[in-house]
Amino acid sequence: MTASNANQARARVAVIGSINMDMVAHAHRLPAAGETLAGEDFVMAPGGKGANQAVAAARLGASVDFIARIGTRQYGHDLLASLKAEGIACAGVQTDASALPGIAVIMVGREGGGENAIVYVPGSNAQLSASDVQGSAAALKNAAVVVAQTEVPLAAIQQGFELARAGGAVTVLNAAPALPLSDAMLGVVDWLVVNETEALQLSGLQDKSLDGLRAAAQVLQLRGVKQVLVTLGAEGVLLCCSGQAAQQLPAFVVEAVDTVGAGDTFVGGLVTGLAEGRAAVDAVRLGQAAASIAVARCGVQSAMPLRAELPSEFAAQMAAA
Ligand code: ADP
Repeated sequence: MTASNANQARARVAVIGSINMDMVAHAHRLPAAGETLAGEDFVMAPGGKGANQAVAAARLGASVDFIARIGTRQYGHDLLASLKAEGIACAGVQTDASALPGIAVIMVGREGGGENAIVYVPGSNAQLSASDVQGSAAALKNAAVVVAQTEVPLAAIQQGFELARAGGAVTVLNAAPALPLSDAMLGVVDWLVVNETEALQLSGLQDKSLDGLRAAAQVLQLRGVKQVLVTLGAEGVLLCCSGQAAQQLPAFVVEAVDTVGAGDTFVGGLVTGLAEGRAAVDAVRLGQAAASIAVARCGVQSAMPLRAELPSEFAAQMAAA
């Protein structure tokens, strides 16, 4: 078997992450404290960065294992069904009939450019433990790429990344939200993906210029991360690999209508590309292409593209094992 065939046989992604039910009420403006306001629309849809990235990767053709905890006291069965409908393997999902799943209650005011207010209740996401993740050791060791976000406990992520490393998988941490990360955690991260705000929060720097973001990436690399990707919204991505000059990769030019979830679609594409054995620049490009389609549509998971919707340069897709 050639090296590239070996990669083809391992085009598998494991996601250690959060899953929520998002409840979104739209009104002409946000209510004041104590006020009851007539709304205009209501949508309930699965979300959570883990589930979003799992869905993005599955739609792009990756074979995805999801490792999570879902409280089924309310809505949890719907969340589980939504993953299965995307072809995502859920053997690593622990259910808990006594717990609530993660729930985000979101209010959006139409006037003022769609400003929002959110109450997020982490529910069972906060209960994901290192031993839950240990139970998915086989999936983690068989994956080509293991990705996590910081909406679940760091101890669970670290355990998962150590198992992933032991199996030879590449680890990707999307540090969203930006929480303090230990050197031990950063030491098991191959790729750190952050947006501009997160890069500055994690590095403790303040300069938002490209030079400042490059310096922030260097701070994180000095603490043990191999590669840092700073996403820059419509300005694309800053790719910082150890020992090489940082490279800005421009975003695809589209008319964006809803950029919520852009980062999750990007990460889903990135990890799919890496799992397919693509070079870093090509994996980033796959993430950018997917995100550019998603931002031109409304919704989060509902806006994520299928592989067939991508430009033809991404048509070649390695078979999942
Ligand atoms: P986050 O949602 O985590 O803040 P970003 O806003 O930086 O992440 O977006 C992630 C990626 O999505 C970008 O690097 C870019 O490739 C793509 N993207 C985001 N906004 C746009 C846009 N307006 N036009 C085209 N691509 C976009």
